[in-house]
Amino acid sequence: MAVEVDKEWRKKEESYWEILKKYPTVSPFIITQIDVQRRGVVYTDAALDKVDAKIHQVDPYKDRVAPSSLLLRDGTSIITHFTFSTSKKTLNSREPYIVDVADDKIVLVDDDRIIDEVIYWEKPKFYDKKTSFGTPMQEVVDARPQRFSLSVSKYCHFWDKPGEGCKYCGIGAAGAKYKGCANERVNPEEIKEVMKEILKEKGRFTGVVLTGGSILSGDELCDDELDAYIGALQAIGTAFKTKKFPSQVNSTALSERQLIRLYEETGLTSYTTDLEVFNEEIFKWVCPGKAAHISFSEWKKRLYQAVEIFGKGQVNTGIVSGVELATPYGFKTEEEALKADFETAEELASHGVGLKHDVWNVVPNSIFFKQTTPSLDYYVRLTKGFYEIMQKYGISTEMDNYRKCSMHASINLDRI
Ligand code: SF4
Repeated sequence: MAVEVDKEWRKKEESYWEILKKYPTVSPFIITQIDVQRRGVVYTDAALDKVDAKIHQVDPYKDRVAPSSLLLRDGTSIITHFTFSTSKKTLNSREPYIVDVADDKIVLVDDDRIIDEVIYWEKPKFYDKKTSFGTPMQEVVDARPQRFSLSVSKYCHFWDKPGEGCKYCGIGAAGAKYKGCANERVNPEEIKEVMKEILKEKGRFTGVVLTGGSILSGDELCDDELDAYIGALQAIGTAFKTKKFPSQVNSTALSERQLIRLYEETGLTSYTTDLEVFNEEIFKWVCPGKAAHISFSEWKKRLYQAVEIFGKGQVNTGIVSGVELATPYGFKTEEEALKADFETAEELASHGVGLKHDVWNVVPNSIFFKQTTPSLDYYVRLTKGFYEIMQKYGISTEMDNYRKCSMHASINLDRI
């Protein structure tokens, strides 16, 4: 499955250092975050020697373990574990960044030049404990430096029909083994047990994000998914004295009736449902399962209804930035893609919907595994553009800002 590196790629686009100079108002940390997520990382043996599984969150990496992800000096997170490959060759058509050690510090290196120091994520204390059901707590609740998260469903039912999963997504293939198994959905009783442990780590987390694969069944489409979120949120809520607590659900686009239930029956404060692509025709091609069940215009309508229920600044939507340029049916040029992205972004923001993008990293097991992501320049322009549109429409970035998430480059601009 490996894809050869294009040996000429550095000649075809502006370098990281040129982009830093070109955009002096964009934080270098944000540009680093974008480029590392775009190209992925590999670790030297010296960098792996710095991993301590007693301290750090780790994932299997070749025949060793690597840090689950990285942190920059300003607290910006870089999610890297999706990019691991057991192959010696990279899956990306550009060389990945290298994590190495220099003067006893862990550093990010590209083209023999040190970019900056990086920090490995430390794991929370509950990670090494088990629930009374015997499940390791880290399989029930996941953590990032700022917040904890959990997946209510480990399987996405858009994959029930072959080819209907999103084409950039590696979750379907990786998660297929869970389908129909007892542990496909999270157990609220186990959540309650983990919450008791989480509360012992005072000051560690700012909130919780719940997401998971789409569950299409129920009297109305996704009623079973809704029930899974309500059950999980009510279990989390047992740890709080107030009805509402800092939280976010990222689900399939729920109907107005379902959104009202989600808001009224739980402590949920903010809501996301990702359109993934800001162009209807490309959405249909890239996310055929989503498009088959909920049309592009219906998805937008449900976002607008969510703003009415959760409030402006408490609802946003995301794209997997770059898939709009996938071949053969994506946009042919970066200019065309940016124009379309900004047009839809304006329409959404004018209805109070916030904007975020997750940098597309070409992952193993995805249908798009041979594709190439756009230039770094494209990503920086998109990041600036989304941020400026949110400012223009007076939409706060608070629900997903760097204290709560730090994953979304456009929202991270707020910290400067
Ligand atoms: S909705 Fe799409 S991106 Fe999300 S898990 Fe399902 S197939 Fe993957």
